[in-house]
Amino acid sequence: MSVAELVGTFRNGVHPHENKEQTENFPIARMAFGKIFTLPLSQHLGAPSKSIVEVGQTVFRGQLLAEAGGYVSANLHSPVDGKVITIGPRRHPRGDLATCIELEADPFSTQTINASPQNDPMNMSTDDFVASIQDSGLVGLGGAAFPTHVKYKLPEGKTCEHLAINGCECEPYLTCDHRTMVERPEAVVRGITIAAKILGAKKTSVGIEKNKPDAIAAMQEATKNLDDIEVYPLKVKYPQGAEKMLIKAIYGIEVPAGKLPLDVGVVVNNVATMTQFADWFDEGLPLIERVVTVAGTAIARPANLIIPVGTSVREVLDFCGLDMNTQQVIMGGPMMGMPLSSLDVPVLKGTSGLLAFTEAPKGHQNTLACISCGQCLEACGYFLNPARLAKLAQARRWDELDDFYVNDCMECGACSWVCPSSIPIVQLIRTGKGALRELKANQQA
Ligand code: SF4
Ligand code: SF4
Repeated sequence: MSVAELVGTFRNGVHPHENKEQTENFPIARMAFGKIFTLPLSQHLGAPSKSIVEVGQTVFRGQLLAEAGGYVSANLHSPVDGKVITIGPRRHPRGDLATCIELEADPFSTQTINASPQNDPMNMSTDDFVASIQDSGLVGLGGAAFPTHVKYKLPEGKTCEHLAINGCECEPYLTCDHRTMVERPEAVVRGITIAAKILGAKKTSVGIEKNKPDAIAAMQEATKNLDDIEVYPLKVKYPQGAEKMLIKAIYGIEVPAGKLPLDVGVVVNNVATMTQFADWFDEGLPLIERVVTVAGTAIARPANLIIPVGTSVREVLDFCGLDMNTQQVIMGGPMMGMPLSSLDVPVLKGTSGLLAFTEAPKGHQNTLACISCGQCLEACGYFLNPARLAKLAQARRWDELDDFYVNDCMECGACSWVCPSSIPIVQLIRTGKGALRELKANQQA
């Protein structure tokens, strides 16, 4: 039996109901262009980008609107032909006000993009490649929105042996990566070929959970003549898409606490990021639109839609038929996504899903006392003690959180999901991490 025939996974984790049947068999469709587009300058990890346009200026689809505000930052391009109508504070999906460039689409434009291929990435130096990817505005499309180019500049002394491609899509409801692998396997492979060449990776492994047999088949077919790319069917488990969990599942390697994937010779990227490499280098398309899963019990017409970045969430949900009795809307997946307090916020580069539900979300029930059942410990793939971390955070004993490796928590929410007492463990840990950061900054100052 070859390694690829084994079904790998990591230790611990949870298995929430997958709920993928609403959209997993629907081909990706394109949503009609809206009228107003709102583009926050901060929609990635790192420094916000800096606007280079003025109010009243006419812009075209794909034009650079804002430059990266530092090395860990990303460019921002116009998703439409149109006009800049404001640059100022607008509601951000995370709830606060943030500086945004607001565009009015040209109603007479066909919104076709005038782009041409970039230089051949297979003959580029690493520095040129990194600069080109930063130009494209590409950020991780799996949700965290970390500027992609940063991963491709390996620090001195580090090498990449393996490129691991995340095709797990382990969050319930989301199927945008699944459909991308089924419909565009050649683009995923093209992106992998480019990425592996730049990184000098000897082998690429594509990890796909086995609840996506058609995606596994499509990727196996697309890679059948490529010895350096292998498709790994993985057991269905959450949070297998987390970098350290994926590395454990595919290679059996534990990334030590406080270390990064590159410390064990691995770089991890999402499948959608690979298609974006192909789109940028072969067609010159910057990151101005993405595939978003729209689903949930409050959605009449669930879909996977190509949506221009900056489109209003309200417009998307109306397009898919939002129930009058909607109780909650989440941007992203139900485990790690962001509950929205307003629908008048834009789709971001990192928006993988828009989910709407008619029932009250789990976690809004009454919180009971911890019964020391240990289920949260068994759920945590990082072998943390979530109950202890939550108790310390609740008691505001911030300095003790470090002793229990709080910064290794990737806020996956598996502990909260299993807790029979409905304790908002991950929210408490998140608060604790923030307070500890502040405490340390004050101590340093
Ligand atoms: S949220 Fe943090 S503590 Fe809870 S299971 Fe995930 S990694 Fe572990
Ligand atoms: S799962 Fe909840 S009740 Fe059980 S030990 Fe963890 S925090 Fe306590």
